[in-house]
Amino acid sequence: MIDNTQSTDEQPLNDQATNSSNTSSQAATKHNPSIIASVDELQKQFLHLQKLSRSQPIIEWSTRLDQLDNLEALLSDNQDSLAQAISADFGYRSTSETQFAELFPSFTGISHAKKNGKSWMKTRRASISALYLPAHNEIQPQPLGVVGIIVPWNYPLYLAIGPMIDALTAGNRIMVKMSEAAPKFAEAFAKAVAHYFSSDMVSVVLGEVDIAEAFSKLPFDHLLYTGSTEVGKKIMAAAAPNLTPVTLELGGKSPVIVLDDVNLESAVNRVMMGKTINAGQTCIAPDYVLIHRKYHQRFIELATAWMQQHYPNIANNQDYSYIINKEQFNRVQGYIAGLPTDQVHKITDVDANNDSRLMPPLIITEPAADSKVMQNEIFAPVLPLMHYETLDEAIEFVNARPRPLALYIFGNDDRSIEKLRTHTVSGGVCINEVIIHVAQHDLPFGGVGHSGMGSYHGKAGFERLSHMKPVFVQAKINGLNLFLPPYEGLFKRAMGIFLK
Ligand code: NAD
Repeated sequence: MIDNTQSTDEQPLNDQATNSSNTSSQAATKHNPSIIASVDELQKQFLHLQKLSRSQPIIEWSTRLDQLDNLEALLSDNQDSLAQAISADFGYRSTSETQFAELFPSFTGISHAKKNGKSWMKTRRASISALYLPAHNEIQPQPLGVVGIIVPWNYPLYLAIGPMIDALTAGNRIMVKMSEAAPKFAEAFAKAVAHYFSSDMVSVVLGEVDIAEAFSKLPFDHLLYTGSTEVGKKIMAAAAPNLTPVTLELGGKSPVIVLDDVNLESAVNRVMMGKTINAGQTCIAPDYVLIHRKYHQRFIELATAWMQQHYPNIANNQDYSYIINKEQFNRVQGYIAGLPTDQVHKITDVDANNDSRLMPPLIITEPAADSKVMQNEIFAPVLPLMHYETLDEAIEFVNARPRPLALYIFGNDDRSIEKLRTHTVSGGVCINEVIIHVAQHDLPFGGVGHSGMGSYHGKAGFERLSHMKPVFVQAKINGLNLFLPPYEGLFKRAMGIFLK
């Protein structure tokens, strides 16, 4: 068991970093705390931000840049204590994983927004049909106002920071509800935000599900939720009476399809990376593998060797993370307990530990389609290998289930890869890779169907959290007055041309 006893309370926030927001914050801070922990405060703070967003709707690029700088300073100054807080919540979370999967995409996301945000927010010309010339069309991005962000526990830092980057770049004010399942991080993050941001721009909400429910009922200008599909349905229902637009970043079972011409060793290498990072508690972790039965035994051998190479002595390995809580641990153990023993393959010499919540990876061969492990998102380092004969069978298998958040293809045959890409619908796709598409700031990230609604990151996130307002600018001299009632002569001749 790894020593994780260092107190997170001892990490001082850097007093050098100042809140450089040029919104007047001091008077407001007295009445509008940055850290919210009751339904009453929640509603007050929401109304405060809503009022500000209506009275001061324009947020210049210099202010947005200040906010992004604040976010960068917050992370830069507190990265160690925030990583320790996450680790404390997990029982143990590898600091290297927090750096790789949370801090790295956060820092690069902020840089990307700082570099491009000014051009994204410019009013731009849009093309226009010759029929309306010499008028012209414009698209004017505008801040929406107040954006609500609901954060899950599995990557609590990046899944707070990522949406915050997009919301701040788009000139919004924000309220962020942290996950009650990662309370130490939630508290550390809330304190850090209170230090680096004005409560006129950002506040953080702590607390249990009752507060989360009240949060989702607020009439935000947009609500971005990341979490399970089941709770996602509740969020959408809670947002409906206000007609609050929602972005739902949900979960599900992301399949890997392995073609017959695969380099199996490199496929196993990437799939195991995706299944072991954060002990499989990743929304886009490969959930199960569709691969011809003839490869199953070799897959298990390669995965066993891979574990020895990359996580030797897994019972005391500082690179391997633990399961967040007992509930999640027991959920997954329950999936395995129901399986015939000849389907369950250990690929390390260590068993799962009920006390520490260490869960070494397991491979399951051909579990029944109605087994719990194939009916639910696994969200843990348990990897079913399923069998398919023909590509059509693999496509049918995927399409018979809810649309996945990600789909991974390993192999070389371009025609088969193209067929899989075009005959399945998933949030995103990686070819001969897993997970890395989430880190592409130039690609939209999101799900489809039961895996989510709407996408964000980079320009897509900026546009998602802006109102992309269409503006038609009429010219002084134009022909539209020729088309007024009474509808005769020219009007009739024109309709004769255009109505087919
Ligand atoms: P969760 O749904 O239990 O909780 C997420 C958030 O929802 C928490 O902040 C919680 O306070 C809030 N919440 C819980 N019940 C609520 C309610 N009734 N009303 C309003 N808010 C409520 O999810 P989780 O267990 O924290 O996260 C795991 C799930 O999230 C997995 O399914 C995973 O695939 C998914 N996920 C998706 C993405 C993505 O980007 N698509 C990323 C990470 C995780």
